[in-house]
Amino acid sequence: MVNITVVGTGYVGLVTGACLADFGNRVICVDNDPKKLKTLRDGGIPFYEPGLKELVEMNLGRDRLVFVGDAAEAVPKSDVVFIAVGTPPDENGHADLRYVREVAAAIADHMNGYTVVVTKSTVPTGTGKLIESIIRERRPEAEFDVVSNPEFLREGSAIGDFMRPDRVVIGASSERAVALMEKIYRPLYLLRTPIVRTTVANAEMIKYASNAFLALKISYINEIANLCDLVGADVTVVARAMGLDGRISDKFLHAGPGYGGSCFPKDTLALTHIADKVGYRFRTLEAVLEVNRLQQLRMVSKVSSLLGDLRGKTIAVLGVTFKPNTDDVRDSPSLTIIPELQRQGASIRAHDPIVSHLDGIDGVTWCSDAYEAAAGTDCVVLLTEWNEYRDLDFSKLKESMRSAAFVDCRNIYDPREVRKFGFAHTAVGRSFESAAPWAMEDVVIREESSDTISRPATLEKH
Ligand code: NAD
Repeated sequence: MVNITVVGTGYVGLVTGACLADFGNRVICVDNDPKKLKTLRDGGIPFYEPGLKELVEMNLGRDRLVFVGDAAEAVPKSDVVFIAVGTPPDENGHADLRYVREVAAAIADHMNGYTVVVTKSTVPTGTGKLIESIIRERRPEAEFDVVSNPEFLREGSAIGDFMRPDRVVIGASSERAVALMEKIYRPLYLLRTPIVRTTVANAEMIKYASNAFLALKISYINEIANLCDLVGADVTVVARAMGLDGRISDKFLHAGPGYGGSCFPKDTLALTHIADKVGYRFRTLEAVLEVNRLQQLRMVSKVSSLLGDLRGKTIAVLGVTFKPNTDDVRDSPSLTIIPELQRQGASIRAHDPIVSHLDGIDGVTWCSDAYEAAAGTDCVVLLTEWNEYRDLDFSKLKESMRSAAFVDCRNIYDPREVRKFGFAHTAVGRSFESAAPWAMEDVVIREESSDTISRPATLEKH
């Protein structure tokens, strides 16, 4: 058992705190937002994350988890302090380290005996050294080490990702710090989770390099999809077959409206600035940023490809979060797409299973389900692939619509099926008129097959 403080109870901090408590450690979570703190102390969770409420409740009940508002109440009692505050982009797109600096100063002021200071937040290479210098300046005599332990969890499946990660990265320069980190992550060692022990600088870079690569992969398949639209191919089949190649893998090969969320947009931008700062022009990443911006706007062009001029038209938007199973709308494609539809003269009716308000976007009529949203509209735009949009009743949708048009920004539906109901339909990279002889679900992996995609034996690496 290790005494731990986690500063910041956002998506990462609260999941980290609850999971580390569940591993058997004693955890104090600190947040300086009084509203969040009150919600937590009243037994609530300030955001939506499946399974988190139960995990928090269970560990509160075991007296292994506590919430406080001030680092002074937590840090002196802890051997390890995790920093899990936000690192949003500043006005120039650099990672804003203001909160990290604040927390480092608070840790320096309150630490008591040897303390390991761990960054869970995504921070540029060199931040470990910055934290060290802030602490050293305020407490020259203090005994401490700084560790980088970047987090790779995904919102919507955060607990599973934290409890069964693909790898744990521990960037440290001291054996003493590593020993404490190993103690904390002992349950994962038992699961034989790969542990990467490396330098602080490498650990900091691993996180940015990973996120930027995933953003690149998404942008790549989005461009393949755009090309498929033009040459009459189906990106879902293309991606599926690509993904059977172990060197490529099928993850993050789903064409769509562009990536969003609290990580990819800010981390890709921050990495271009990290490169810029040392005089390196990161050209592939610059292209990713541009491709993603255009991809979001392309969804609006898809609507007008079905409806023509959008003035006076009403559009139903299904899903506004950047992905299902989260309430996070930070940098969601919906924040670009809805205002652009409005700018072109369309009225918006929207539904999302969790969100019913978007800061800074007015004039949206929020509805209680997909069918209410579709009523009286000219087109339905499926923007987030929540489960409840995966089996829509197209006859029911059509009944109340002014004209039947459907833009499937997530390629959930077989175009032929939607068209059967009399809908004008378009999707991302499968908007060809003559449907392919097979749909995505027909691409079964058969042992002996000559006319469809067969087992990877034939696709083996050369
Ligand atoms: P968040 O905005 O949800 O939470 C940050 C929390 O820190 C807030 O509750 C805020 O009140 C609190 N805070 C800020 N300053 C504080 C201070 N001085 N003292 C105490 N509390 C303070 O952020 P998040 O999404 O959890 O992200 C945190 C970090 O983790 C970021 O660097 C992010 O890039 C990284 N990350 C996020 C994800 C994700 O999916 N959200 C995944 C991996 C890594």
